[in-house]
Amino acid sequence: MLKGKRALVTGSTSGIGLGVARALAAQGCDLMLNGFGDPAAVEALRAGLEREHRVKVRHHGADLSRPEQVEALVAATVDVLGGVDVLVNNAGIQHTAPVERFPAERWDAILAVNLSSAFHTVRHALPHMRKAGWGRIVNTASVHGLVGSVQKVAYVAAKHGIVGLTKVVALETAGAGITCNAICPGWTRTELIEPQIAARARALGVELEEGGRALLAEKQPSRQFVTVGQLGALVVFLCSEAAAQLTGAALPVDGGWTAQ
Ligand code: NAD
Repeated sequence: MLKGKRALVTGSTSGIGLGVARALAAQGCDLMLNGFGDPAAVEALRAGLEREHRVKVRHHGADLSRPEQVEALVAATVDVLGGVDVLVNNAGIQHTAPVERFPAERWDAILAVNLSSAFHTVRHALPHMRKAGWGRIVNTASVHGLVGSVQKVAYVAAKHGIVGLTKVVALETAGAGITCNAICPGWTRTELIEPQIAARARALGVELEEGGRALLAEKQPSRQFVTVGQLGALVVFLCSEAAAQLTGAALPVDGGWTAQ
């Protein structure tokens, strides 16, 4: 369905970003991966995706907290793949602490990676999408773009910010063949939430799996984790013709969390 399209997925060396990259590659998209990781493991991932889906896959290790590296990432995507049609702003980091003990340095880092990097990728990628008359921007927000939770002041602020950015970009690109949406996952089992599962298990004096079940029970009515495959399929749908008029939305994928 997306054969010949060129996609940049930030934070795609693991978790949700990797799931989205896999789903886009399966639809024929050429890919620019981004994210940290052991160089040999990242190369194995890149080569594996290329082989399995017969698309072009490259990796760029830009640190998204650095605006000049974000600019270089978009430039490299255009240079190597020939353009950028699909932009998935997905990279994100987390830190949990009460607001009065929240380290200012973690606030700055979370705002830079989870919010400002998307502003920079969008402003550099949009001219290419406008020229092509087609584009899809998907921002991985979170349920925390819609509601708050204790101990996550920077994360919740950044994710609410990304929902706002999504709306403005959607308005400014309306009618230009370009859409911009946010996806808002609830608990999804990735490396990002493992420390929270471990902390809950420790606090309850139970095994890791029981800690995961306790996190789900507190917030996610389905009591099931969202899967990265489900999120990848949603991004593919947002890239489809069926979703051409779906723009400016923040779509919960949260087992009912935000319906409460
Ligand atoms: P993850 O830790 O598995 O993946 C994060 C990715 O971002 C990795 O590829 C990592 O290398 C990359 N990254 C981190 N800092 C970076 C930086 N400075 N520069 C470049 N890349 C960087 O986590 P995940 O759960 O897959 O998270 C992906 C996104 O989904 C995040 O935006 C997160 O906030 C969001 N999210 C996750 C959940 C969840 O329950 N896991 C729920 C809602 C939203």
